[in-house]
Amino acid sequence: MPPVKKVLVVEDEVKIARLVRDYLHQAGFNVLEASDGPGALHLARAERPDMIVLDLGLPGMDGYDVTRELRAKSSVPIIMLTARSEESDRIVGLELGADDYVVKPFSPKELVARIRAVLRRADATLGGGEVVRAGPLTVDIPKRRVSVDGSDVSLTASEFDILLMLARQPGRIYTRAQLLDAVRGVSFESYERAVDAHIKNIRRKIESDPKHPELVLTVYGVGYKFTDA
Ligand code: CA
Repeated sequence: MPPVKKVLVVEDEVKIARLVRDYLHQAGFNVLEASDGPGALHLARAERPDMIVLDLGLPGMDGYDVTRELRAKSSVPIIMLTARSEESDRIVGLELGADDYVVKPFSPKELVARIRAVLRRADATLGGGEVVRAGPLTVDIPKRRVSVDGSDVSLTASEFDILLMLARQPGRIYTRAQLLDAVRGVSFESYERAVDAHIKNIRRKIESDPKHPELVLTVYGVGYKFTDA
């Protein structure tokens, strides 16, 4: 049996928190709970959960602030719960480094499927001993480790999977929808702009000048490709 995964649920609405907790218990997860940002950060440090389900609309410190604080030190997978329907709100969350988001009202079943998909990616060890090298970039697939000119770069699970898909076949053009498939085990919603947010993060981390990328290139009107120059 694989080890039981620890999921930290951060939600200030008692009803929703209870629903999510019960459902995750049933699904076989070990559930930790916090109802505000400081509590979430404390538990994240003390308990080192495998995944954080984070409500965006928290009193005081909101979900964005929590994500920013977490990402300063950790690449723990984060799924945001958002009541906001604006695309831009989700983009902000993804740009801050959230791995995925679920819009309220959501079905607990959908949330569990998303959690499993993100955990699978975080756990995935693809191939054996495979290392992709492209220019200054090295992607150690089994270790899910990325370095540029020998310096380690910390990517989230989603960023890693997108970069790996691109770097494995330099020069091949991928559409946003294809890249989206790479990061979602389950696709409930086609949300291609999410890919742009992940690409922006990847460039910030691996390009020497993110505004003039030399590794991950935009193919206008189509998508992205890894340089084959
Ligand atoms: Ca809330």
